[in-house]
Amino acid sequence: MVASITPSAHLADVRYEIRGALTRRARELEAAGLDIIKLNIGNPGRYGFEAPAHLREAIARHLHDSEAYGHEQGLEIARETIAAQQRARGARHVEPERIFIGNGVSELIDLSLRALLQPGDEVLLPSPDYPLWSAATILNGGQPRYYHCLASHDHQPDPDEIEALITPRTRALVLINPNNPTGAVYPRALLQRLVAIAARHRLLLLADEIYDEILYDGATFQPLAEVAGELPCLSFGGLSKVHRACGYRVGWMSLSGDPARTAAYRDALQLLAALRLCANVTAQWAVPPALQSAPTIGALTAPGGRLHEARRIVLEAVAASDYLELVAPDGALYAFPQVRADRFADFDDEAFALRLLEEESVLVVPGSSFNVPRSRHFRLTLLPPPAQLHEVFVRIERVLARMAHE
Ligand code: PLP
Repeated sequence: MVASITPSAHLADVRYEIRGALTRRARELEAAGLDIIKLNIGNPGRYGFEAPAHLREAIARHLHDSEAYGHEQGLEIARETIAAQQRARGARHVEPERIFIGNGVSELIDLSLRALLQPGDEVLLPSPDYPLWSAATILNGGQPRYYHCLASHDHQPDPDEIEALITPRTRALVLINPNNPTGAVYPRALLQRLVAIAARHRLLLLADEIYDEILYDGATFQPLAEVAGELPCLSFGGLSKVHRACGYRVGWMSLSGDPARTAAYRDALQLLAALRLCANVTAQWAVPPALQSAPTIGALTAPGGRLHEARRIVLEAVAASDYLELVAPDGALYAFPQVRADRFADFDDEAFALRLLEEESVLVVPGSSFNVPRSRHFRLTLLPPPAQLHEVFVRIERVLARMAHE
């Protein structure tokens, strides 16, 4: 008998359903000739969005300068630009030495937790979360401790609940703002309360701000680092969403706050960055032009812009639905509707998503994929052409009507 290769037990509790079993099924259906409307990934390039031309041109100009390994923390000129952006936002003591560029924020989420956690350490995570945060916590020996961001509270965290979850093992508080999947944007007063909690319990603040400039209807983004002041805070941003360049795989993290308190942690991050040599050098040349020129995303999120229009169509479709409700997203690239409790006493979000795929050729992500047990939600991206989103909701309504009458 041939012994099979056993994968690591560390993976037992790790999930990433945004590209999971449903996606594999969608690929099978596509291979069989079906036209699947895929709403599972916030990947602007797949829906006809383009990165600004000056990013592409900068990369092309510097192709020849990109053949050697670069600095483990990223190109100096790119880190200077990121540090300047962070300082302009009010982050303290941010110098290029405290900036780390990675192959997407994804790589840096893992790195930040790997440099921090001892086995059994706890990390405060939102539920729903962007599931890489849970996965990276678990893979690095940590324990997720979830605070709720419920639709009934406009998907805002409750600082009292967060503080009650803290134990002597708690090391960090993760905030995703603007939030994926809920689209919530957090006001300054809330961030001030969370910073006060982090200060009282000596927690590291981890601020995933990859959607920082994707805002609707006058919502304003408050960088956590500015509120945190001298408190250690690691803020994450990147080219994938605001600059519509997911495939470049460029993200960064910026360490702010009292340098004396973060020196050892900074050195640990540098060691881990060095172990993987450097991030893709070619695409890092897009960072200076991306951050030095006026943001281009506003034309898409302002009234009349494609993302604004997509969001409007989703809000209208949900308002007209017999089965759905939705807290309007204030930011990011998603809507996170839920089925109404008076329509479905019991709702199996995974069965719904599978039926929507099999019966109506639409791929969404069930709410439970975002570490919410027994979710009544599903997530879709706002990236498709607005007219297609209209059609999507016709199909969603048909499946829900069938489920309601069975
Ligand atoms: N953080 C959040 C909240 C995200 O939604 C995503 C991607 O969807 C990432 C991080 C990873 O982004 P990147 O493409 O920079 O790896």
